[in-house]
Amino acid sequence: MHRFFTNEIQSNTAVVRGDDVKHIAKVLRLRAGDAVQLCDGQGNECDASIMSVSPDAVTFDTQQWRKAATEPKTEITLFQCLPKAGKMETIIQKCVELGACGFVPVQSERCVVVLKPPYEGRIERWQRVSEEAAKQSRRGVIPKVMLPVALDKLDFAGFDTVLAAYENEQTVSLKTALREQCGAKIAIIVGPEGGFSEAEIETLKQKGARSVSLGTRILRTETAGMTMTAQILYEVES
Ligand code: SAH
Repeated sequence: MHRFFTNEIQSNTAVVRGDDVKHIAKVLRLRAGDAVQLCDGQGNECDASIMSVSPDAVTFDTQQWRKAATEPKTEITLFQCLPKAGKMETIIQKCVELGACGFVPVQSERCVVVLKPPYEGRIERWQRVSEEAAKQSRRGVIPKVMLPVALDKLDFAGFDTVLAAYENEQTVSLKTALREQCGAKIAIIVGPEGGFSEAEIETLKQKGARSVSLGTRILRTETAGMTMTAQILYEVES
């Protein structure tokens, strides 16, 4: 069944506007009476049927809202040190499909890319990538892309578990760390192409992060976040 996000919800109706209207009316050729699924982007979904289609809005008759079945119980936020051009889109797209709940671009010592303000255009583009991936993978939320933060300004308040993937970590694997301590809100931190400096890993540890290894092979920065997301959810979801 087709699924759309809406944030215009009344007691028994909801409205979809914007690009989706054309998609519903012209591409899918849906008409009054057709059934769809709606999602509020906050983790709730409902069955609905089309009441009316106008050039700029589709109105739906909604049934009981319920918790979206596609959301993982564990919330993963990826703190991704800025990769080279174009890679952030891939990272966001894949991690949304896999179940990540939010993204924080991080400026670190060895980032090749230095983001300069104003950041809004770039963040909006990344947010659109997240929304498209959320639609495609039938997520119940649209994971948010936050403004970039410098590594030494990161704040992990509100997270139960904070894991920094460190290529030089010899002792603690992701699996070990998760089996020792794993909360409902997990922050994962991935370095840029050039990796983390020792000083940066120390800073992250002082901020409460545990450094973990993802195995003996060195992954590209764009592979690391996806791998962690998939492995964490494999470990914690039933
Ligand atoms: N240039 C570095 C590798 C950086 S890989 C080197 O050659 O050593 C980019 C980022 O991916 C790393 O900073 C780390 O966060 C993550 N990463 C890649 N492979 C990893 C591994 N085997 N264990 C832990 N983290 C890894």
